[in-house]
Amino acid sequence: MQPSTWVLAIIGLILGSFYNVCIYRIPRESFWESNRSHCPGCGTMIPFWHNIPILSYIFLRGKAHCCGMRIPIRYPIVEFLAALSLCLIYWKFPFLSEFPIKVVDFNNMLRFFHAFTFTSLLLICSFIDIDHKIIPDVISIPMILSTPLIILMHPELDWKSGLIGVFAGGGSVILINRVYYMMRGETGIGMGDAKLLAAIGGWLGYQAIFPTFFYGSILGSVFGVSAMIFKKRLNFKSEIPFGPFLAVGSLLHLFLSRQVQELFFIF
Ligand SMILES: [Zn+2]
Repeated sequence: MQPSTWVLAIIGLILGSFYNVCIYRIPRESFWESNRSHCPGCGTMIPFWHNIPILSYIFLRGKAHCCGMRIPIRYPIVEFLAALSLCLIYWKFPFLSEFPIKVVDFNNMLRFFHAFTFTSLLLICSFIDIDHKIIPDVISIPMILSTPLIILMHPELDWKSGLIGVFAGGGSVILINRVYYMMRGETGIGMGDAKLLAAIGGWLGYQAIFPTFFYGSILGSVFGVSAMIFKKRLNFKSEIPFGPFLAVGSLLHLFLSRQVQELFFIF
């Protein structure tokens, strides 16, 4: 029997609640401070039965038990996305045998860990970007630096693709920034996005850069225009982080590039 989807989903939910801790603590630089969760509203220690992924949010009706502070909807969303991505990526790259469980497809195991680590790091970056309008260097820079390791480990990614990917990814954002600055006299997308796209280029190869940017720009524009229609006061430039759109764009490329190629014959 393959490991059941329930087991995968539960592992994903537990990882997702850890990602929530990362999303909360990394921008506050308090990642190593204490091991237990405290309520950000009143400082009370949160008992573990109020910290069960998704279920606690539903039973507490989205409010902290101690002081009634609203729990951001981000918590169950991140937990759900982590569980969903773990299941989907395992279905795409299954590597365990029937009982007794052992690794049967070593290359798929490498592909799985590559895709799931990539997805998880981008998930964390995206939600930090949504909350704080920054992409943390403590994630993007180690991702860029680990490119050689990813190239050695991954069954398909080669040196040329990965190393060109880092420079093409970072360089293209810097170039766009320069052109935008010459035309408008202000910066469009930030250096955080340049480092993120360099990391994406390193982990997926330079072939991912254009599709990532292409999907990301389309999604970002659709979201930006609808946000401006529904919330008229929204300032398109400064208030919409681009990181989450680059992240979704790169995941579309990673998981659907073949299907999209067949559909449009473009990339
Ligand atoms: Zn509280």
